[in-house]
Amino acid sequence: MNAPDKVIPIQPAGDDGTVSLYEVRRRIHPRAVTGWFAAWRWGLVALTQVVFYGLPWLEWSGRQAVLFDLGARKFYIGGLVFWPQDVIYLTVLLLVAAYSLFLFTAVAGRLWCGYACPQTVYTEMFMWVERRIEGDRVARIRLDAAPMGAAKVAKKAAKHGIWIALALWTGFTFVGYFTPIRELVPAIPFGLGGWSAFWILFYGFATYGNAGWMREQVCKYMCPYARFQSAMFDPDTLIIAYDRERGEPRGAGSRSQDRKAKGLGDCVDCGLCVQVCPTGIDIRNGLQYECIGCAACIDACNYVMDKVGLPRGLIRYSTEQALEKHYAAATIWKRVFRPRVLVYGSILAAVTAGLVVALVLRVPLKVDVIRDRGSLAREVETGWIENAYRLQVMNTSERVRVYAVRAEGLPGLTVASQTSFEVPAATTTSVPLRLQAPPAEVAPGSHRVYIEITAQDDASIHVREKTTFLGLRR
Ligand code: SF4
Ligand code: SF4
Repeated sequence: MNAPDKVIPIQPAGDDGTVSLYEVRRRIHPRAVTGWFAAWRWGLVALTQVVFYGLPWLEWSGRQAVLFDLGARKFYIGGLVFWPQDVIYLTVLLLVAAYSLFLFTAVAGRLWCGYACPQTVYTEMFMWVERRIEGDRVARIRLDAAPMGAAKVAKKAAKHGIWIALALWTGFTFVGYFTPIRELVPAIPFGLGGWSAFWILFYGFATYGNAGWMREQVCKYMCPYARFQSAMFDPDTLIIAYDRERGEPRGAGSRSQDRKAKGLGDCVDCGLCVQVCPTGIDIRNGLQYECIGCAACIDACNYVMDKVGLPRGLIRYSTEQALEKHYAAATIWKRVFRPRVLVYGSILAAVTAGLVVALVLRVPLKVDVIRDRGSLAREVETGWIENAYRLQVMNTSERVRVYAVRAEGLPGLTVASQTSFEVPAATTTSVPLRLQAPPAEVAPGSHRVYIEITAQDDASIHVREKTTFLGLRR
């Protein structure tokens, strides 16, 4: 990414002669913008929020469809129940998320930041509330500069009241992913547990602070992705770029013939692209790390180009190479398939396929065989050799199941304890197991044997575990 083409002013020295190295925050009042990309952004705001706020209310087989029950150490997602032993799936899911981010960043830059990041989404929602109450950019600047009076207090109180309500609802929804949300509702406010109340307030406060107050400061100073994403950029990555060759020299004047006669480029220097920018930068100064790729400046500039009768696209999605070498759109598309993208894409496809296959083939039964350390081997009244074990059987399905147990690995090896047992839904049960074998078949020492557990209602639910059977020294 190019270095910022601007100089950050050093703060003037204070009374004691000290100079601050920190840039004083300029309050940004972004202007509302409409257009193709704004519509996409609002579409994603709607989609992500319908999913976020709606998901905890969905039911599946009489329970919450998506619930991360930390107390019971079970995660429910639709018909699947995940246990701590399933952490491998979470690890692979994180890998899929990471490689998706790498891939999309390499291809299209900060798509995530501009359209789907919670910071962008909640800031859009909070700014929408702000505009409805305080008006658009100019009205808000005037209101902020006006002395405090009844009308200003009323507007500010209404805005913050709605922001706080929205933030608390967000915190409540977040906690609803970890505690059944239908049980949380009647508990509000005094029946909430301490931790639930803490997390609702904490998450709500973070939402209110980040989307209402901090806004672009989160992207500029707090978000680690903004710092390392440039490592995934290359000259063929899509960026939001101002076409300097076409736009400069900038200057006022509307008719394209007049502009040519005056030696002007297409930028009419209206400043609209700066006014709509949520991070307050001027994209005409080149690509800057503050740019979150929201494309508001594209919509604004296209609007201006339409008004003055010039072609759209003075600010547009392009690449550094395309701007420099004047690539056509087809060439830009062709260069998407470059080695870095193919490597990220192949790894992502392989990991995703592996995860899907593993989930499809996942058996809702886990078994641990633990040898009884108290008695390694003994001779029973019939003269046979007996070994004792304990089975830890985890029924990860959501129905009661009866399992049959059998053993093999030595001639005549039999199960001397109960050969079937029942395990309630989503429960772990400890089952004692005794194996016996005829003495003539068991030489002194250790022998590899196998224990098979099979669900009686579904033979595909089947686990085969190996263990050892000890013979007696005589
Ligand atoms: S420069 Fe354009 S794309 Fe970048 S943050 Fe500002 S408005 Fe959004
Ligand atoms: S919106 Fe377009 S025409 Fe207006 S200042 Fe920005 S780049 Fe120039």
